Amino acid sequence: MNSKIKVAILYIATGRYSIFWKHFLSSAEKNLLIECNKHYFVFTDDNELLSQDSCDKVTFIHQKKLGWPYDTLMRFDIFLTQKAKLKNYDFIFYFNANTEILSEVTVSDLLTINNHQDLIFALQPHSFHKKINKFTYDRNPNSSAYIPYNSGKFYFTGALNGGKSKAYLEMCETLNANVRKDLNTETIALWHDESHLNKYALNRSDIKILPPYFTRGESEYWKKSSKIMFSDKTHFRFGGHAYLRGETDQKIDQNEWERSRDRQKKRHGFRLKQLFKSLFIIR
Ligand code: UDP
Repeated sequence: MNSKIKVAILYIATGRYSIFWKHFLSSAEKNLLIECNKHYFVFTDDNELLSQDSCDKVTFIHQKKLGWPYDTLMRFDIFLTQKAKLKNYDFIFYFNANTEILSEVTVSDLLTINNHQDLIFALQPHSFHKKINKFTYDRNPNSSAYIPYNSGKFYFTGALNGGKSKAYLEMCETLNANVRKDLNTETIALWHDESHLNKYALNRSDIKILPPYFTRGESEYWKKSSKIMFSDKTHFRFGGHAYLRGETDQKIDQNEWERSRDRQKKRHGFRLKQLFKSLFIIR
């Protein structure tokens, strides 16, 4: 009998985001939960990927491009199309398309949770150090993702999250219902799925929180201990973020990208605040 932990990896790559898949897969095969039985569920409209036969490692599922922001907002609905299969896994984990696993991520890094923990979330790498009223929670009282000021403790990223499969699927059901309820009143939460995720996390005590520097952005080279990196979607090598999302057909060029980077300062203050918070964050 195979007693390895079974992990379903959820991955959405519609429209231009399919360019990230091969890179993600090779880094995950090398470094991610190598002691587990992993299976990738890839939701895509890329004909080249869809023409590959699914195998014991990967299932490609046709998912049409819904347009921005629905490509990410509707993720809970998209995941639930595979609920019957996902139930059979011990854990489910979602990764944003532009994820790269930099070094070995073990079961104890990512999955080991105590009996009171069901979900695994990561702090938003650019804003975990902020004061709670500066978190970009959704402040719209008409939204299901509404969080009033002076509430909450952490700001979680939507870029990766997971959990025990039962708890993760329960979360998908609730958040899918919340997204749909909002759509009925033409409401879209500020940061889409991420706002809903943060609302779900509010006042819960069953979340394993990954360390502050566990993930980093591509340009945050000083976070040496990070095991997971998100490629810079604004980079001209991808044509820029709006081009990737299909919001424009106009790619940005190197000059434009460099000008936007020049506007960012050296960020010493930001780095110091993050370092300080990372040392004292109470999880
Ligand atoms: N996504 C996609 N196609 C799109 C836009 C988004 O597949 O055209 C998926 C993809 O998995 C991406 C995720 O939605 O990683 C979140 O989108 P994005 O990275 O643009 O949002 P951000 O994380 O910057 O808010």
